[in-house]
Amino acid sequence: MKTVYFDHAATTPLDERVLEAMMPYLKENYGNPNSAHHLGQKTKVVIEDAREKVASLIGAEPSEIVFTSGGTESDNAVIKGALAVSGNKKEVITSEIEHHAVLHTVEMEKMRGIKPVFAKPDATGKITADAVREAINENTALVSLMHVNNEIGTINPLSEIAEVCREFDVPFHSDTVQSLGKLPVDVRELGIDFLSGSAHKIYGPKGTGIMYVKNGARWVPWMIGGSQERRRRGGTLNVPGIVGFTKALELAIEEMDNHTARFTKLRSLLLEQLREKLSVKVTVNGPQDNGVPHILNLSFSDADNKHIDGEMLLLNLDIEGICVSNGSACTSGAVEPSHVLAGIGMEPNLANSSIRVSLGKQNTEEDITYLVDKLDAVLDRMFTIA
Ligand code: PMP
Repeated sequence: MKTVYFDHAATTPLDERVLEAMMPYLKENYGNPNSAHHLGQKTKVVIEDAREKVASLIGAEPSEIVFTSGGTESDNAVIKGALAVSGNKKEVITSEIEHHAVLHTVEMEKMRGIKPVFAKPDATGKITADAVREAINENTALVSLMHVNNEIGTINPLSEIAEVCREFDVPFHSDTVQSLGKLPVDVRELGIDFLSGSAHKIYGPKGTGIMYVKNGARWVPWMIGGSQERRRRGGTLNVPGIVGFTKALELAIEEMDNHTARFTKLRSLLLEQLREKLSVKVTVNGPQDNGVPHILNLSFSDADNKHIDGEMLLLNLDIEGICVSNGSACTSGAVEPSHVLAGIGMEPNLANSSIRVSLGKQNTEEDITYLVDKLDAVLDRMFTIA
């Protein structure tokens, strides 16, 4: 059976060029960069080169880059580390449609007296600077808002939000896991104090990422151990992972315009074919045309406004070799709608009927046609039974 992969917002395959760059550090150059001998010193140079490269790619200083195990760790470390030194400021502004790495971290901080304040997204999932202005006050310790939403592809206006944060002297963290390498990300231009990034969303290896901590930011390290990363993140450095992350980011930025143009074309083709071929109604959830072009969240309903189960749809497509995802969570046997779709005010039945199609650089026009044809057949069957 052929596999057609449309789940690139979940993860991407490793780019051959990234693997090639990593190979020497998986084999002969295995030294610990913290070791004083020549093998250690060899990898130390490689790490510092990588740090310089990553810094220049996001407009930061090398001293502001901390290598981590990925987006989840970076989100945890930034939020916990900033809130630990916030003094008597106890409120953190975030949104209900953040990734769980942010949401659950903020939730946990309640145990230490922190109060989450949720800025309200509009119907497309966007958090405006005005929404932040409404929530911010002299007790705000941190604002944490993502750049691109992983389920619906909404792009938040980070530089406008940063202006409000600056006005109130509140540090601003952005989870840029879904935007790094897909949109221009320059920390100075965006005006952010902290950022989280991950390699496996950009054809790099899993389990590796970065945190940007602006020089002078009020923050203490969270992962404590050895003296690595100037004591800001203990743990032996993942040399092949760091090399892989750096190569993946370099390639993603170099090829960004090309990929964006291709995704825009494939997205239009997908929508066009869905509207032409499908007998049921297709709803695009989230932004209609001003989100990132590679993430498309879709729901389906028939003339009687009946919905199908998105989880079943996903499984039926999987039988045809097609990989998509949905954000529903199975909690004690009952399917809960995605917190993102619920957060933008979608009715639970429609939210539960949704799937996310996320495009990647290997996807072709034939893949799109294959998806639409299989969707048509599967939906026909499902709506007949429903
Ligand atoms: N934030 C966002 C927006 C994400 O999409 C993801 C991955 N799904 C993460 C954080 C977590 O990143 P990682 O898998 O590298 O821990």
